[in-house]
Amino acid sequence: MDRFDKVYLSKVFTDTQVPDGVIERENVTIGGTGFYYDKAAPLLAEVEHIMPDYHLYDSWVEDKLHNGGTRKDYTYYLDYSIGFLTRGCFRQCSFCVNQNYKSCSRHASVYEFMDPSRPKLCFLDDNFFACPDWRGLISEVKETGKRFQFKQGLDERLLTDDKIHELMSWPYDGDYIFAFDNIADRPVIEAKLKRIRELYPTTKKHFKFYVLCGYDRGGVYDNAFWLRDIQDTFERVKILAHYGALPYIMRFEKAYTSPYAGIYTRIAGWCNQPSIFKKFTFREYCICKGMNSGYNKYKRDYQSFLADGGTKGSAWRDMESFLSQAPQIADKYFDLAG
Ligand code: SF4
Repeated sequence: MDRFDKVYLSKVFTDTQVPDGVIERENVTIGGTGFYYDKAAPLLAEVEHIMPDYHLYDSWVEDKLHNGGTRKDYTYYLDYSIGFLTRGCFRQCSFCVNQNYKSCSRHASVYEFMDPSRPKLCFLDDNFFACPDWRGLISEVKETGKRFQFKQGLDERLLTDDKIHELMSWPYDGDYIFAFDNIADRPVIEAKLKRIRELYPTTKKHFKFYVLCGYDRGGVYDNAFWLRDIQDTFERVKILAHYGALPYIMRFEKAYTSPYAGIYTRIAGWCNQPSIFKKFTFREYCICKGMNSGYNKYKRDYQSFLADGGTKGSAWRDMESFLSQAPQIADKYFDLAG
């Protein structure tokens, strides 16, 4: 690093580690949400709107591929043009880095960051449909003929019939991703899911929802909060499963140190693997995780596994521990099927 007059260092996530002694160097300037969260200084317009250098990591990626990595593992480095069509969001959720914004506005044309040689597009927009000019932006995207995805998800609560028809016509890359962060949104989330199913009853497209858990909007984090939050999380999972949508559990940092960290880990392990979620109830998942016989034999042999002196795995123990602490929640949700 001493070879350079100036080094700019940014990171997206607060928990990304920076090696000791780097930030202190005189030629280093830091920035980005990972360092400053919602107080990060904006970039100069010339920098914000520059064509990304998609070859910055070429030698690093080549090295990874050479050492056993697959193209799929590094697809975002190789196959995608990445950028923002819009910036900002009007919702001001208290856990979000965007809470200083009051609206969503046009940021850039896709042509500003598209490398024509790359087959796909990845947009990092926070709330695309909240932008008044979303239709103009997406028609440019469609002109490119490339498949695309909104990696950060779309706001399901803003869907109208018009927007549903629009998004179902997109050459979309992967699952449609939305968020169901608050059980209070249940009426609107359900109404829109129902409408999608009415308009497209036979669609094979997948709808996935980020499900935030472990975040107390009141900041209290007492026992009553944890139990309520676990119940709310299961309830959101149940609603999504009812409409054939997939949950993806996002644990707020406090969930990792919660007295109920074990059950949060198990809920995430169950939901975040679609092939497991679709096939097993929560109870089945916890029981068979770690058994030598594996998931597929569960229904036949977990009793014989125990009879043979098999030891219960940690997921099973976490499940039983929660069962003894909150039997009313366990009774209601442990046999929920995905
Ligand atoms: S809706 Fe999403 S992007 Fe908007 S403030 Fe909430 S979490 Fe952030």
